[in-house]
Amino acid sequence: MTIKSIEKAILYHQNLYDKGKPKISDKQFDVLVANLQRRSPDSPVLDQLGKPLRTEKIQHHTSMLSLQKFYVVANVETWGKKTGETLFAIQPKYDGVALSLRYEKGKLVHAATRGDGEEGDDVTRRALLCPDIPKRIKERRSVEIRGELIMQSTVFEDMFEGEFANARNAVAGNLMRRSGRTDVIKACSFFAYDLLIKKMFDFDTRMKALGDLKFMPTHTAFVVSTAVGEKLNAFSKSFREFDYAMDGLVIKVCSYKIQEEVGYTSHHSRWACALKFRGDTARTTILDVTWQVSRNGTLTPVAELDPVDLDGVTISRATLHHLGRFRMFAPRKGDVVTLARRGGVIPHIEAIETGKGKKIKVPKVCPSCEGSLRVEKDFLKCCEPECDSALIRKLRHWANTTGMDCWGPEVIQALYDAGDLTHPDGFYELGHADIERLDGFGMDSSTTLIEEMEKTRSMPLDTLITALGIPLIGKTIAKRIAKAIPDIESFGFVDMDVPGVGQSRINALRDWIIDHGDLLERLLEVVDVIPIVRPDIEGPLAGKNFVFTGRLSDMERSEAQHLVCKYGGDVAGGVTKATNYLVVGDLAKDSQLTKRNKAEKYGVTIISETEFASMLAEAMTENE
Ligand SMILES: [Zn+2]
Repeated sequence: MTIKSIEKAILYHQNLYDKGKPKISDKQFDVLVANLQRRSPDSPVLDQLGKPLRTEKIQHHTSMLSLQKFYVVANVETWGKKTGETLFAIQPKYDGVALSLRYEKGKLVHAATRGDGEEGDDVTRRALLCPDIPKRIKERRSVEIRGELIMQSTVFEDMFEGEFANARNAVAGNLMRRSGRTDVIKACSFFAYDLLIKKMFDFDTRMKALGDLKFMPTHTAFVVSTAVGEKLNAFSKSFREFDYAMDGLVIKVCSYKIQEEVGYTSHHSRWACALKFRGDTARTTILDVTWQVSRNGTLTPVAELDPVDLDGVTISRATLHHLGRFRMFAPRKGDVVTLARRGGVIPHIEAIETGKGKKIKVPKVCPSCEGSLRVEKDFLKCCEPECDSALIRKLRHWANTTGMDCWGPEVIQALYDAGDLTHPDGFYELGHADIERLDGFGMDSSTTLIEEMEKTRSMPLDTLITALGIPLIGKTIAKRIAKAIPDIESFGFVDMDVPGVGQSRINALRDWIIDHGDLLERLLEVVDVIPIVRPDIEGPLAGKNFVFTGRLSDMERSEAQHLVCKYGGDVAGGVTKATNYLVVGDLAKDSQLTKRNKAEKYGVTIISETEFASMLAEAMTENE
């Protein structure tokens, strides 16, 4: 096919598609487009395809209203009091694309974006690419599932960093475009945050029903009204630990009766509100720009900054995303930059005030492998297929995920350059001499580094799975898988259904295990993997939910929690209506008293460590 004939074919099929009479599948269409992109990247036809799809509009059965926004916890508390509710649900406010999925007689009829709240765009076909959105569900009644299509941060970093400015852009840009990339949507997660049905239930029942329908329910904390403020503060501090970008929290009234009573304005519902995280900004100067090579060979410019505090976190680097943006800013050493956190997690350069410093140049060769570079639109790419930075990134990912503190990029790079460290199992074969040989690393550093490495000789199964850096398998997914499987090796060879994990992710893990059997085998020789003990439904503690507070004197809390799970019980972080036992160690802090007060309020049995120990002893004998 000549370039001209490809262009003609694309325009012809695009036209048919716009008229709603496609003759070829989306996949075949994508192949045509990819072909043209490769052979004639500057073709004007590609620009025409860049426009968003002209989609069917879908009228929402129930409006997708926006949320009233607060910036201060106290205002949320006042709002809560006004509703008269005693139990609230707290969920993350994602920075993704909100979707409404409508199912009739168990079948997905459409997936629509929020649009203007009254009607949104029909994105059904593309949404179905996401492994978490099922075509069919086991519910005959008409239901609407609301949730957010997002890309987890680890997945973004692993697969698409350098190609899109951020995870949200990747999702939104590829969901609405016909020639959008299917691999992007396939790598997305869909977190369900509400279920609408004719006869409505209380919110906690709705969230549970989402899980029963095999959706991935949004992380939700249920708290009593008096504890809302405390929980929001705790969340605001820990939100960076989550594996996705969020820009606030959503607080919802639990009781359906009260939800109806407090009602709606034309703009927002009164039964839910949002607490937006503070959008602090900070100013500092650019010291230099380094270029990081991502797994797919794209070079990302990263500004090295004079360390500055932003929202309580020290920031010393910020991404400039790609060559296009780098050229736009044309940074010089000493330029003053304004940083902000957009979407919560990653610091973003908002503005640069150009000074008189030395101009920072675009590299001529790959900083990682010294191979030649090429420019593709806004992106700078390494031409070397075996560019070694991919291996280094894997090593760094291993060290970060398993918690080898002190193992910075410099030492990993140096050991890699010396040929002493090429794969993750290599960490465990390093001796003091290997490190002390390196420039700038003496006996002290070798001792610390080896100690840190030794610490990771045993790790929970989910940490191992995350640390392997498998595409599509982020922290959250790894946790779900680890809970469901006895050990990782056998997983490659058995068929398995993991709750809350789509088939394509399971396949991704299985393919990885089969392709990397050698590495896995070597790793399992050097590290001990602690299985996440599957709660045994038949176990002596089955159906019992434990919460711990205070320090235990005879065992670590993690050990106690592990034992509860082993004998069939469940462990939770906070006291809820579902809690059966609150195990109280030494009470020192106010937060521990809060748990205790809550337990008393809910009529939860409060037991001491000794009572807990004898319960365990009984469970052990029963189990033998
Ligand atoms: Zn390279």
